[in-house]
Amino acid sequence: GCQQVQDKFNEELDKHNLSNEVKLIITGCHGLCELGPIVIVYPEGTSYFTVSAEDVSEIVEEHLLKGRKVERLMYQDEESAEKIPYYNEIGFYKQQERIVLSNCGYINPESIDEYIARGGYQGLARAVTEFDPQGVTEEVINANLRGRGGAGFPAGKKWKFASQEPEPTKYMVCNADEGDPGAFMDRSILEGDPHSVIEGMAIASYAIGAEVGYVYIRAEYPLAVRRLKEAIQQAEELGLLGENILGSGFNFKLKVKEGAGAFVCGESTALTRSIEGRRGMPRPTPPRSTEKGLWGKPTVLNNVETLACVSFILSKGAEEFTKFGTEQSPGTKVFALTGKVNNTGLVEVPMGISIRDIVFDIGGGIQHGNKIKAVQIGGPSGGCLPEDKLDLSVDFDTLDDAGAMMGSGGLVVMDEETCVVDVSKFFLKFTQAESCGKCTPCREGTKRMLEILERITKGQGEPKDIDLLKELGEMIINTSLCGLGKSAPNPVLSTLRYFEDEYREHIEKGR
Ligand code: SF4
Repeated sequence: GCQQVQDKFNEELDKHNLSNEVKLIITGCHGLCELGPIVIVYPEGTSYFTVSAEDVSEIVEEHLLKGRKVERLMYQDEESAEKIPYYNEIGFYKQQERIVLSNCGYINPESIDEYIARGGYQGLARAVTEFDPQGVTEEVINANLRGRGGAGFPAGKKWKFASQEPEPTKYMVCNADEGDPGAFMDRSILEGDPHSVIEGMAIASYAIGAEVGYVYIRAEYPLAVRRLKEAIQQAEELGLLGENILGSGFNFKLKVKEGAGAFVCGESTALTRSIEGRRGMPRPTPPRSTEKGLWGKPTVLNNVETLACVSFILSKGAEEFTKFGTEQSPGTKVFALTGKVNNTGLVEVPMGISIRDIVFDIGGGIQHGNKIKAVQIGGPSGGCLPEDKLDLSVDFDTLDDAGAMMGSGGLVVMDEETCVVDVSKFFLKFTQAESCGKCTPCREGTKRMLEILERITKGQGEPKDIDLLKELGEMIINTSLCGLGKSAPNPVLSTLRYFEDEYREHIEKGR
């Protein structure tokens, strides 16, 4: 409904001759999707939630003309029943730390001036004027920035590997092929603050010695694609991309490649093939992309969120970044919080926070006062954690040890009414459909697993199916070629680990 709200505001501002006095700015996502569209009136910063076109004339007449707040549209605190006028006083935002999302919801993403006014491109300026390429890499290594797209491999190390390759032509790629069900982190960052990713790309390219970079983005994200392209053009016009950036002698051209939405193209070797115009299928590694990637040249792939962190690190310094999070997983992580939670939305939290805090303090607890049963963390490659694991720290290693993974940051909350077998079937169905078919364990194995799950959920399962699922799952993990197959059984195996009774109940009760 945002477009209608925007159109109505324009109409009302015109009607009251306020168009010169009041500037209507469209921002990116504020995060609290559950209560959108959100309208904030500055300079006082009064926030109005779930605004519809019908509410606009009241906001204009009451707030803008008479200076009176429209209380009915303000957030109501459930405990105190008080109306909360300011955005950041709401429980949803209190425990969040915003590095990556710091501009989302605050600036017009289509204006490079607004990005620069909030400190944008200072990281790039510092990188090319105060550091040599090795110095930039060292800064990122010192920040211990781990890749936000999956397994958490240190970004600085990856840069170092690529920069040490003797081949002079190198490429930088931003992986914006976000395809997990329930995930919209990268999309929101690119829609709300595209320059932060462009800046990160330019910094990373300077560090590794790349003169050409690509953002590989899903074509299903048309707004993100448009804003990204516009932002690249603006940066070129200001000399922040192109030749001799900021007089440093560093040249960098950034291109956009739209992907057709294959989940497997999020895998680095499939992604680079897709950019080359070939079918997006993974190849065996080694050689790693840092040795032979795009067109056989050393290539670094980082995801959207990782690159947005790079801009922060180079602008504020590694030390500032490591003030957030834990020693082994510094910084913050953006999650798409969905499922049976009250405040669905986009959240950014310091690493080390507990899952419970995310679900209850930020997410506002479970819908309809139900009990929580589990969370699926890390999307279809991740795992399911039961209620007694909610106090685990959200960091790469702890989640890995518990049989889940950070993944790119999908967090689906399930309540007592959710059937975990159905959930694992849902995720497996997704990965099975997205399997590229190149290798047998993933192509055939996931299909067999899915058949068993379908049997079980129809009440036609047999006791031996449980062992069969475990055996097949382990085999697929150990023998598949790429990350998609290696992680596809995770939702099934992790629910079997914690909720085997539920599978047995389906089998024993025949339903
Ligand atoms: Fe394709 Fe699956 Fe094999 Fe990956 S593991 S190469 S997605 S068949």
